Amino acid sequence: MNILLIEDDAVLSNGLTHILQQSGFSVSSTASGRYALQLVHAQGFDLIVLDLGLPDMDGLEVLRLLRKQKIALPILILTARDGVNDRIEGISQGADDYLTKPFDLGELEARIHALIRRCYGGFSHHVEVGRLVLDTQVHQILADGQQLKLSARETAVLEVLILQAGKVVSKDRIAQRLASTSEALADNAIEVYIHRLRKNLTPYQSNIRTIRGLGYLLETS
Ligand code: CA
Repeated sequence: MNILLIEDDAVLSNGLTHILQQSGFSVSSTASGRYALQLVHAQGFDLIVLDLGLPDMDGLEVLRLLRKQKIALPILILTARDGVNDRIEGISQGADDYLTKPFDLGELEARIHALIRRCYGGFSHHVEVGRLVLDTQVHQILADGQQLKLSARETAVLEVLILQAGKVVSKDRIAQRLASTSEALADNAIEVYIHRLRKNLTPYQSNIRTIRGLGYLLETS
């Protein structure tokens, strides 16, 4: 699951990105409403978290434009305004849920899970791609029901690829995911992880294809 976070408070944005990545989400963040409107078309997102007070545009305007462009993604609004009018305005412009600042990060995470369940039906903590099943809660990957023997970092790399299955994942994005673990990343580390993952995946008719200059693509049959 791929989340677009539109929030200009850097501390909150970093905190949210971190906590959501820990639960297995891929997160892209921006402080700009205008840039978000472009991003939404360029990348496949599953959910948007939108702050109403943005430096370049009113979040409600971003929301209105998204819906006008027929972007039907679930949108959760964050705001420091706690007026009933804003809430009504947000919902009437097509927001799916609404959270008033300050809020607990755990509550936001729970709301996101609830929204995903509501909008994508039976989404559980399991993501199935071919013969692979990722459990995003305990960060385990099974192949034909057996747990793959992978290091924490190999698991993290494969997790990103599974969550983005069928899409090309850039090396930067993988590096970003690994940056949330403690050790520093050696230059060719990602290539090494991909190489090891390929070996592990071969028996399960899954492969990680290198798309030159763009990144990696998980293919399953
Ligand atoms: Ca703000």
